[in-house]
Amino acid sequence: MIITLQADVTDGQVGEIRALLRDGGWGAAEVRTQSGKYLVGISGKEIDIRHVGRMPGVRDVHRVSDVYKLVSRQWKVKPTVIDLGDGVKIGDGNHTLMAGPCSIEDEQQVRSTVEFLSRLGIRVMRGGVFKPRSSPYSFRGLGLEGLKMFSAIAREREIKVITEVLDASQIESMYDYVDMYQVGARNSQNFTLLDQLGKVDKPVLLKRGISGTLEELLQSAEYIFSNGNERILLCERGIRSFEKSYRNVLDLNAVPYLKEKSHLPVIVDPSHGIGVRRFVSAMTLAGIGAGADGSLIEIHERPEEAKSDAAQTLSYDEAEELTRSIERLESALR
Ligand code: PEP
Ligand code: MN
Repeated sequence: MIITLQADVTDGQVGEIRALLRDGGWGAAEVRTQSGKYLVGISGKEIDIRHVGRMPGVRDVHRVSDVYKLVSRQWKVKPTVIDLGDGVKIGDGNHTLMAGPCSIEDEQQVRSTVEFLSRLGIRVMRGGVFKPRSSPYSFRGLGLEGLKMFSAIAREREIKVITEVLDASQIESMYDYVDMYQVGARNSQNFTLLDQLGKVDKPVLLKRGISGTLEELLQSAEYIFSNGNERILLCERGIRSFEKSYRNVLDLNAVPYLKEKSHLPVIVDPSHGIGVRRFVSAMTLAGIGAGADGSLIEIHERPEEAKSDAAQTLSYDEAEELTRSIERLESALR
């Protein structure tokens, strides 16, 4: 059960609602976010929610049977729109293309990417500075100094920055330089990281775990929301399977499923999802066809020289061609 509290609810009123719930055998967690105050009631006896709805201080009450609550569409029917400022919105019914290198490598690369994105009207740039690599001997990113450089150059052109946070200890130092934190597949169930990102007032793009179920992804999102941050994007980035013909299996079933189950925007990452450059554009279009609110793709001026994920990275020409295909697809779908 989700009880939306009035903005001016008093501690006394919250106490009374809690007492009513306790009598019905319900546990209750109080949640305060950027946009609301809630009491989340957990697994009690059958209760007439109209009694709860009539309590002073209650704005609204919904029965939510899903294991995740606040990210469920059972209580919030209207989709969540993530507003990054300067007119950049994700989840407002249009598709948002986000692009950039797997890793930030040097200033020349960032300037070249920013120029390219500006020319195409792409407003969100990805780029990792803390890279989770399977081998500790691989390139692990430029770190915070690289993020400062990336952010300064992107902001000159009003391009929003999304980059991965690997550890809760990095959140604060990254704060001034990011517009959206990315939680990678390997951290999808790092609950201490998710708890801390819930306390930050910046959007979080949460990737599905390498072998994670959709229910696990939604419960991970619930960690962030229930700690106070409602601004979350769910990202399908491919799952591990028995199939070895490509890097991962991009599970596009996830798109309509997540959009039905949750009010949060759904992003598809076809680059990691299939891991093969020549198939990335086709799978981007497939994701849009499935209803994705946005796509996150890897691009590089010279993909074969990229320091990470070269095999799945599009050249500028390929990315430009993809934007033309997206326009054609969108007008056909309209
Ligand atoms: C990335 O976006 O470069 C990345 C490491 O992604 P994932 O966490 O999906 O593997
Ligand atoms: Mn990558």
